[in-house]
Amino acid sequence: MNRILNFHLVNNMDWFERTILYIKSKFDLVSTDTLDLYYQGKVDLKNAVHITVDDGDETFYRIIYPVLKKHQIPASLYVSPKIFKERINYWFQEIEGYDKHVMREIISEVTNTPLKNLDSLPNDNLMKVMKIERIHEILAEYRKRTNTPLKPYQNMSIDELREVDREGLVTIGAHTMNHPILHNETDEVSNDEIGSSITELAELLGHEITCFSYPNGIPDYDFTDRERNCLRDNRIKLGFSTEATGFSRKDSIYSIPRIGVSNNESSAYFKLKLFAGPAWIVIRKLKPSGEYVNRTEIKRIIVNR
Ligand SMILES: [Zn+2]
Repeated sequence: MNRILNFHLVNNMDWFERTILYIKSKFDLVSTDTLDLYYQGKVDLKNAVHITVDDGDETFYRIIYPVLKKHQIPASLYVSPKIFKERINYWFQEIEGYDKHVMREIISEVTNTPLKNLDSLPNDNLMKVMKIERIHEILAEYRKRTNTPLKPYQNMSIDELREVDREGLVTIGAHTMNHPILHNETDEVSNDEIGSSITELAELLGHEITCFSYPNGIPDYDFTDRERNCLRDNRIKLGFSTEATGFSRKDSIYSIPRIGVSNNESSAYFKLKLFAGPAWIVIRKLKPSGEYVNRTEIKRIIVNR
């Protein structure tokens, strides 16, 4: 049974270390180089886990990386070079804590959707149907209307990113420029979000970039063959989704599944996901509040996205 795990923000070092040590006791922890050889058919993996982390917020350097180093665990980290170069937050970091009623009012106005039609929709997924340009427009309007300043920078510094890269335990890959849901974008924007993130990250680190993870990452909802082809054209060797199942040689190398692990989640829940295998994705899709169900409904209601 082979698994790739996907972490984001982690604020509890004890929890992270316990989780990592549990995985280490049950699986062989492998690097992106080994995964690449596996997909080329040059090595076999039977009981392997690869650790991935998305976004590169400051907890990667402060909490995750020291644990990985202490136990010499290979991993990969997916970041937007624009975030680091301009020292700005990702849109989903900026939006955290914004007043939901004010947000709905603004969404209603900019998308020409009657406010009452938004009532039945879950807040969390409203932004996931929109173009990144629209998301930036909504956030700017919120800040203006409520006199809210931009938040302090919440991500790693370029020096920290370069240090992690130089030490070689963690492979750094690209994760677009602005973290859009690529499927919502035009061909031109989608290609540029992927291509520029790969070339600018390569410039920042001084070497070729061969790994990529899709923002949000659900196949067919967040990206399609258009994006898979773009990764191929940019000579990416491993492209990661968030399809929550194990991996095998049957996967496209431009859509390798990963199982998401939330900060501080219970060990019982974590073990269920880790061992449920393909059954997990079925359980996830059945969840009535899950984004698979909601997103289709939201797209029907918010037409002008
Ligand atoms: Zn992300």
